[in-house]
Amino acid sequence: MPKNITFQDWKNATNAVPFFKQSAQLKAVTDAFSLYNVNPMKLSALRTAFNAWDTATTPPVPAERTTLATAREDLRFTLGHTSGGPTIHATQVQPAGWTLKAWTHSAYPWTAPVTPPQKLPDLTPSQIARVNEAMRRAKNGAEVARDAMLEVKRRNNLNAVPLPPTDAAYKELFRAPAHIQTVLDRFTVLQLAFSRNPTVVDVRNTAYGMDCYAACFRRDLTVKSAQGVLTLSGAVEVFLGRDFFLGGDYEASTNATVGTLVHEFAHGSFSAVDAPIVLPNGNWELTPSTTPGSLWETPDNSKQSSTPELDRRLANKEPRAAIVNADNYGEFAKTLITQAQK
Ligand SMILES: [Zn+2]
Repeated sequence: MPKNITFQDWKNATNAVPFFKQSAQLKAVTDAFSLYNVNPMKLSALRTAFNAWDTATTPPVPAERTTLATAREDLRFTLGHTSGGPTIHATQVQPAGWTLKAWTHSAYPWTAPVTPPQKLPDLTPSQIARVNEAMRRAKNGAEVARDAMLEVKRRNNLNAVPLPPTDAAYKELFRAPAHIQTVLDRFTVLQLAFSRNPTVVDVRNTAYGMDCYAACFRRDLTVKSAQGVLTLSGAVEVFLGRDFFLGGDYEASTNATVGTLVHEFAHGSFSAVDAPIVLPNGNWELTPSTTPGSLWETPDNSKQSSTPELDRRLANKEPRAAIVNADNYGEFAKTLITQAQK
């Protein structure tokens, strides 16, 4: 059975092929592995180097693969299992742009600890790198969205033909020309919130965190000066659960991650709500709240407008609900960074 292989084990195994006889492809794998060993962000470079060696047909590569058959299968196994949980421990990976906070029952009594057999170890360097990457991308997403809103405001014409993609995204998700300044302000707040060292509470070892991705309590940190300058009264606190670290191809899920984090930070920075669903016939599935402070909020948290289609329907029916619905902000940021990547 293949097993996880460390860099040292790989080096020892490759000693079976004299260094001066090794192919360039094999040396490239060892080099990439040594870089990955100290920096988990180098995983894809190691994958690329391994695939090149794994498939090359020029001598002496095929003979090397025979000699190193066990190490080869072990490295393949290791790469196949390294996305959510690292098997090769890197060092010196620290939270970048966020502060890690451990969960304690006294500080967060609204959930309970898991039983010892269910308990996961501390975040690994690879998992911390994953949060670093997600935060960096979400911050960038909020900036792209804010800059887009500055352009929408400058043009101030949602009926232009052709309509620029940015303005089209605004029109689909927020609809009303009268709300352009509000949406610009809220993306400015989001950009500040991602820049201001958010606190990340690791709730993986709580009942709540067992099947939670990310969550924020509703809080309004917005401070607007008489001159209209926006600042924040504090840092956002976000809870990360086990689902955030589930396997799969992280690269493929990054835009969705940005959408999710912007959604959560909208709750945590300007007290956005989750609005109820608008049915295809244009009626509310559930009647939104009319309570001050929770205007437009769904009465049932499991029934909320949280898909692109539902967010567009919401904007179409009630623009005043769209500008307080967290998911419309997440969807707008996701749409904008996807546009920017094309
Ligand atoms: Zn929400």
